[in-house]
Amino acid sequence: MIFLLALLPALGLAIFNSHVQYENQKAHSRESALRVVRLLKGAHTQIIDDAKSLVKSMAQFPPFRDQAAQRCNFLRKSFPQMFQRFSDIALAAPDGNILCSTGNIDRVAMLGSTPFFSELLTRRDVGTGAYRFDPMLASPYVLIGAPVLSRENDVDAILLATLDFSAFEALQLTAQLSSDSVIFVFDSSGLFLARYPDPEGWEGTNRITKAAIFHAVQSSLADEGTLDLLGADGVPRLFAYTKLRKAPGQTVYLATGVPVALAYANARQDIVADLITYGGLLLLVLLIAWAAVQALVSRKLRRLVQSAGRLQAGELGARTGMQGAGDEIGKLAAAFDAMADSMESRILELQRHGNEMRDLKEMSDAMQVCATQDEVLAIVRQFALRLFPDQPGALYLTHASGDFFELRTHWHEPVVNSEFLPQDCWAARRGKVYRVDAASNQPRCHHVHTPPPINYMCVPLMAQGEMLGILHLENDQAARLADEQPVAMAFAEHTALTLANLRLRDKLHVQAMRDGLTGLLNRRFMEESLLRETRHARRNHSQIAIIMIDIDHFKRFNDTFGHAAGDALLRAIGKMLQEAMRGSDLACRYGGEEFTVILPGTPLQAAATIAEKLRESTQSMEVAMEGQALGKITISLGVACFPEHGDTYEAVLHAADLALMHAKQTRNRVVKYAQDELEIRRQTQRR
Ligand code: GH3
Ligand code: MG
Ligand code: MG
Repeated sequence: MIFLLALLPALGLAIFNSHVQYENQKAHSRESALRVVRLLKGAHTQIIDDAKSLVKSMAQFPPFRDQAAQRCNFLRKSFPQMFQRFSDIALAAPDGNILCSTGNIDRVAMLGSTPFFSELLTRRDVGTGAYRFDPMLASPYVLIGAPVLSRENDVDAILLATLDFSAFEALQLTAQLSSDSVIFVFDSSGLFLARYPDPEGWEGTNRITKAAIFHAVQSSLADEGTLDLLGADGVPRLFAYTKLRKAPGQTVYLATGVPVALAYANARQDIVADLITYGGLLLLVLLIAWAAVQALVSRKLRRLVQSAGRLQAGELGARTGMQGAGDEIGKLAAAFDAMADSMESRILELQRHGNEMRDLKEMSDAMQVCATQDEVLAIVRQFALRLFPDQPGALYLTHASGDFFELRTHWHEPVVNSEFLPQDCWAARRGKVYRVDAASNQPRCHHVHTPPPINYMCVPLMAQGEMLGILHLENDQAARLADEQPVAMAFAEHTALTLANLRLRDKLHVQAMRDGLTGLLNRRFMEESLLRETRHARRNHSQIAIIMIDIDHFKRFNDTFGHAAGDALLRAIGKMLQEAMRGSDLACRYGGEEFTVILPGTPLQAAATIAEKLRESTQSMEVAMEGQALGKITISLGVACFPEHGDTYEAVLHAADLALMHAKQTRNRVVKYAQDELEIRRQTQRR
C-alpha cells in the first residue's frame, strides 16, 4: 500500500504529461488539417488565376480583337480547340446580350444587370463572377469575364468563359486525404457547390444549411480555422475551413472534414501507448514491490509466526534462525529466539526440578516402608544413582558408639576413606553443608583423599538435633555441584529422618517389650516369646522349662521399708535374674513381685537346679538403699516343663503356677510340678 501511495504522484505526473502530449498532438493534427485547406485554396486560386489570364489573353488576341465581324466565327471555330479547359465560351455585347456562344451560356443571359458584368465594364479588366452550380452539367462553375477592347480602347464586347470545379478531384489526390475524408465547397447561402468524393446527391442542394459546420463558419469572424463537429453524415469530424471568395453577394468556403478517429489517430495511439506503458510500468513496479515485500517482510513474518506457533505447541527447540538479518524483523526474530532460549532453559530447569521432586518423593515413599537400616541404605544408593547420575558419592553413618563415621554405601567409586573421625569432616564439624570447588583453595576434608583435586560436597544427615551421618557427593563440574546442593540437602534430610524414625521405632519397641522398673521383658513379650518357642520346640521335639517366682512376704517388706525400697528390691532381683541367664534364656517380670524365667531346651531337673541357684542367690543378696541395709529376702519357685506338663504354653504356665503355690506352703523353696495334681494337693494337705 505504501508503495502504491508513493507511486501515485509519479503516476499522476505521467498521466498529465500524456494528456499534454495528447493535446499537443491534437493541435498538431488541427494545424495539419489547416495546412491542407490552405494548400487546396492556393491550388484553387492558382487555377482561377490561370483561367483569368487565359480569358484575358483570349480577349486581347489580336485577330479576335481587331476583326469584330469575325469574332463569333473565331469563337466557335478556334476557341474550343484552343481553350479546352472551359466548358462554355461566349461573347456578350456591352449591354449584356449574348452575341454568340459555344454551348449553353445563354443560361447566364441577362448578365447586363449583374454587378459582375457592370464591374467588367467599369474596371475594363478581367474578373470572376459568382460561383454557381449547373444542374444541366451537374457541376459547379465560376464565370470569368474579360472586356474586348477596341483600338480606341473602348469596350467592344465581353468575352465570357465558364470554368467548372472538376479540377478539385486532382486536388484531392494532391492533398492525399484518406478516403473517409471529405472536401467540400459551399457558399454563404448554403449552396453545396462541390463535394469530393461522391458529389452526387450533395452538390447543387442546400443541405449544407443543416450542418453544424455551416453555422460555425458563418458565425466565425476568422477567414480560416478548425472545428471538432458532427458532420452532416453524423460522423464526428475535424473540420478545417478557409474562404475561397469574399464578395458582397457571395462568400465561398472550402472545407475539409476528417473523421475525428482518423484525425487524432496518432494522438490517440500515442496516449494509448503511453497509458499502456505507464500501466505496464505500474504493474511491474507493483509486482516488484509485492515480490520485495514477500521476500523482505512477509516471508520473515511468516517464519516468525510459524516459530511462535511451534513454540506454543510445545516444541521447545523452535527458533526463527534469522538473527543474522539486520532489519527490524531480524531484531524482532533475534529477540524471539533469545526469549525462546531462556524459556527453553527455564522449562528444562523446571522439568529437571520436577523430575527431582518426583524422585525425592518416590524415595521418601520407598523409605517409609523400610524396616531396617540396610534397606534404607539400599534405597539411598538406588536413588543417588538416579538423582546424581554418573557422579561418585557415598553415605557414612555414625557408629553406634558415636565416636566415628563409617562408610555404609557408595556409588561410582568416590575418593574417600572407609571411616573417619568427626573432626576430619568440615561438614560434621560445622553441622552444615560444606561444598568445595576444586579450583579454590578452601580447606579439604581429611576423609577425601586427593590429589587430583575434585569438586565435592559433604551434607550432614541431621535429625532432631542429632548427626546421624554424612552424605558425600562428587561432581566433575563445580557449577553442577552447586546446582545439586538443594537436592542433595533434601536427599540427606529424607534419609536422616527415615533413619531417625527407624531408631525411634526400635527404641519404642524395646520400651514396649521391657518392664520399665526392672528392665526385664514384660509379660506380653514373654507370652509372645513363649508362643514362638513352643512352636519351635514342637517342631524340634525339644523342651522348654518355665520357672515361676514370687517374693516372699513382699507386702511386709513394703510396709516396713516403704515402696521405694520395694522398688529397689524389685530392681535388684531383676538384675540378679538377668545376670544368671544364658543367651537364649528369657527373664520376665510377670506382674507385681512375680517373675518368670523361660529356659528353652532345658529339661525339668536342670531347670529345678537353676531355680535352686536363683533361690540361693536371692537369699544371699544384700539389698540396701541410701546406704541402709534392708534385711534378708527370700523367694519361692515353681518349675514346670513343656511338653510334659501341658501341650500349650498357657497350660505349662499354669502348672508352674501350681508348683509355685505349692512352694508357698513353706516359702523359700523350689517345687517341681508333679504330674499328678492329686498328689500335689495331697502333699499340700500333708504340710
Ligand atoms: P507372700 O509371701 O504370701 O507372697 O506374701 P506377700 O506379702 O508377698 O503377698 P502379697 O501377694 O499379698 O503381696 C504382694 C505385695 O507386693 C502387694 C503390693 O503392695 C506389693 N507390690 C506389688 N507390686 C509392687 C511394686 O511394683 N512395688 C512395690 N514396692 N510393691 C509392690
Ligand atoms: Mg505374690
Ligand atoms: Mg509374694
